[in-house]
Amino acid sequence: MTYVNERVLIVTGHAWQCSTCRSKLQADPDGVLMQQGLSREERQMLNQMEPGAWATVSTLAEALGVARCDLEEAMRHPRSRLRHF
Ligand SMILES: [Zn+2]
Repeated sequence: MTYVNERVLIVTGHAWQCSTCRSKLQADPDGVLMQQGLSREERQMLNQMEPGAWATVSTLAEALGVARCDLEEAMRHPRSRLRHF
């Protein structure tokens, strides 16, 4: 299993909960992810995710290679809930 940094989970977690930011992310992944301080490798990983990965929290966690409970925990993080891209 790949190690995924918490900030990747927080960015993904916010995009999951906020459709405005999710559209922004899908329209300009590099621009958004760079502003969020993600590394090149992390940006590539998110760029390569299939659109179907966003279907459920489970598919999203699977695409990120993390446990669903870890992603859910990141989604409850205040930064994940409140900070827009
Ligand atoms: Zn947002």
